[in-house]
Amino acid sequence: MSGVSASEYLSQQQELEDEARKLMPWDPKSCTYEKGALRQQVFACRSHGKIGVCYSCSIQCHTKCDIVELFTKRCFTCDCGTERDTQESETGFKCQLRRNTEADIPSLQNVYGHNFEGLFCSCNKEYDPDSSAVMLQCVQGTECNEDWYHDYCIVGKDEGKTEAKAKGEEILAEGMPPLDTFDAYICWKCVSKYEYYFKRILSHPLSDKIVAHKIAHMALKSETSLNDNRKRSIEASEENQGEYSLFLKDDYSEQLKKLKDSLDKDNDKLYLFLNDLVPFLLKDEPVYEEPEEVEPSADELVSQMLQNAVDRDQVIAGISAFHTMKTRLSEYLKPFAETGQVVRKEDINDFFDTKKN
Ligand SMILES: [Zn+2]
Ligand SMILES: [Zn+2]
Ligand SMILES: [Zn+2]
Ligand SMILES: [Zn+2]
Ligand SMILES: [Zn+2]
Repeated sequence: MSGVSASEYLSQQQELEDEARKLMPWDPKSCTYEKGALRQQVFACRSHGKIGVCYSCSIQCHTKCDIVELFTKRCFTCDCGTERDTQESETGFKCQLRRNTEADIPSLQNVYGHNFEGLFCSCNKEYDPDSSAVMLQCVQGTECNEDWYHDYCIVGKDEGKTEAKAKGEEILAEGMPPLDTFDAYICWKCVSKYEYYFKRILSHPLSDKIVAHKIAHMALKSETSLNDNRKRSIEASEENQGEYSLFLKDDYSEQLKKLKDSLDKDNDKLYLFLNDLVPFLLKDEPVYEEPEEVEPSADELVSQMLQNAVDRDQVIAGISAFHTMKTRLSEYLKPFAETGQVVRKEDINDFFDTKKN
């Protein structure tokens, strides 16, 4: 196990951190309300007025509630313990984490779409964990509030009935581009609303580097549909002619930036669209993570080893142990992940203490 290069070592460290991060939900200690509007994981509480709450509140304040995971929303402020929250509290606190006795003022920026009722997509359905349909979130979201769409609804194969729903087998709806050929999805609603701008983008020389696929919505041309209810779909296609979704390439942000820089800053509406309305398409906002709780476990592992290592031999021995420990740590953390139990600093310390003695 000797002769591990520094770069190998660092990439192993990164790998371990990634692994630890995947296995460990954070310790839900603080509500994000005071941080204001963030791109963060949001959970809808259907027991308390269908409000959206942050990750920590979903665990600590809404334990007995009917919670729907919405994944991420941009520009969202936790509504636990605000005037929107209808929760009757036994403790006297509106939010158990903020411990406020008066309801806080809710953010005006929060947009409440049908996701907060537990419904998704243009077909208005609840998420079905048993369905093998692929769902994509609209990255633009200005019109649809970052909704999630079934692959078959994207191509217009189904309007809300279940005919096209795959039964167990994992196949993409006909007409859907393979998932590895694009990086992001913009729904037909968001495209249609800003059609002028998307036409400009599609006719720009950089368009080839931005757009991977342009897929018509409800435009069934072939007779090879899996859908028995063909006639209805064809009728629908006539009503909705011209509506389409866009699938963006890996490098779309960089290329959109270039496109923006090529425009007349003062006189071009497309410049304003890119700069003011959808800046997040040009520079992705990271999803908020609790700063302290995620880092220490994996970092501590490495720094403890380095602190203990006074000479090179010990470092190498440490690295060798690091490999073994990586496997053991994964094993150790598995039950936490499986039961959804939160891993605390103490648990990680226990792990190391057992290893030391
Ligand atoms: Zn909260
Ligand atoms: Zn609740
Ligand atoms: Zn709360
Ligand atoms: Zn759908
Ligand atoms: Zn959309």
